Amino acid sequence: MSRSNPHLTPDHEAFALAVRTFVAREIAPHVEAWEEAETFPRELYAKAADVGLLSLGFPESLGGVPGDVWYRLVATMELARAGSGGLLAGLMSHTIALPPLCALGSDELQQRVVPQVLAGRAIAALAVTEPGGGSDVANLQTRAVRDGDEYVLHGSKVFITSGVRADFLTVAVRTGGPGAGGVSLMLVEGDRPGLHRTPMKKMGWWCSDTATIFLDGCRVPASNLIGSEGLGFLGLMHNFNGERLGLAATAWAFAQICLEDAVAYARERQTFGKPLIQRQVIRHKLVDMAMRVEAVRAMVFDVAWQVEQGLEPVAEVCLCKNFATEALEFVAGEAVQILGGAGYVRGARIERIFRETKVLSIGGGASEVLKDLAARQLGY
Ligand SMILES: Cc1cc2nc3c(=O)[nH]c(=O)nc-3n(C[C@H](O)[C@H](O)[C@H](O)COP(=O)(O)OP(=O)(O)OC[C@H]3O[C@@H](n4cnc5c(N)ncnc54)[C@H](O)[C@@H]3O)c2cc1C
Repeated sequence: MSRSNPHLTPDHEAFALAVRTFVAREIAPHVEAWEEAETFPRELYAKAADVGLLSLGFPESLGGVPGDVWYRLVATMELARAGSGGLLAGLMSHTIALPPLCALGSDELQQRVVPQVLAGRAIAALAVTEPGGGSDVANLQTRAVRDGDEYVLHGSKVFITSGVRADFLTVAVRTGGPGAGGVSLMLVEGDRPGLHRTPMKKMGWWCSDTATIFLDGCRVPASNLIGSEGLGFLGLMHNFNGERLGLAATAWAFAQICLEDAVAYARERQTFGKPLIQRQVIRHKLVDMAMRVEAVRAMVFDVAWQVEQGLEPVAEVCLCKNFATEALEFVAGEAVQILGGAGYVRGARIERIFRETKVLSIGGGASEVLKDLAARQLGY
């Protein structure tokens, strides 16, 4: 099936080719080893910056490069072709850590942090989720109490991508009373005393650094407050649509890989004297997979087009992310089934993708929570 996107200009195509080449040379040959080692080299950030991957869509005054939604989509889809969601999430963790800072932070804070992250010289992470809950952000418990020219932070965070090695963390804290109005965002440098981080082991995304973070009387200057007290929820909203559309695009790219690998295997594999692909049952499975891949592609492109028109398609983004991740769960499951034992052993791309399906329907807003949000937006 075609992967063409009618919205792409020759400039988009040239960028896609540059990223594809980068992925083929710098990522694909190593990704298996990085997954097994549960890390990837820090130097990859600077290499990704050189291709223009990290600066895309950020303000030029901070070292960014203008890029419409299609550039961001192309970047995600090409990176996803390496077949490792962990690599994508870790390498691009700044795309959720920096937008609130760029939207609300003081000039001094932005200039101190953003340019070096976009150049790949520093790593940024976003720390919102807590052991007590991730979906109910408005109820978070980590406290930041003003003490003279500083804030003192107490609390803990879990599941934080790039959390162990981040040089800068955008941390959601409570500075005020209960509810969303009491939430603020604080920039915490990775070397602050009182900040403790430990790695977490996971079902998938092995090469991605995922951390539990403890803030035990961690002091930061009051100037590290991002925007004003109480603006934390507003800051986080700058992430929602972009992150969810990116996850939907990742799910689409992964589903496409599963389909390709399953077709290739079904052509090669002989059972009972015939190639698998000559069995109607297998061809129907492939068609059911292709139908979902194509439907997700159309939905992702349509929602991206709405974003490009300056619309705020909140409900549509929720539907798109949920549909894409559900489709991926189906497609990855069928792909493993078609490969049989070969789909279950380590080293097959689809084995890894199958293990990574769940995190896409949990992170960036879990499916159930996005359904609630969509229902409210649609007035149901
Ligand atoms: C690998 C990984 C990386 C992550 N990276 C980051 C990161 O970088 N930064 C960060 O801040 N967080 C990160 N997260 C956390 C992620 O955003 C949360 O896991 C997610 O928001 C869900 O929160 P929770 O796990 O606490 O589940 P909960 O909020 O406890 O929800 C548990 C289940 O109940 C459902 N549920 C919740 N409320 C309702 C309701 N009202 N009605 C019906 N069902 C409901 C949810 O949909 C979910 O299925 C990461 C998670 C993972 C697994």
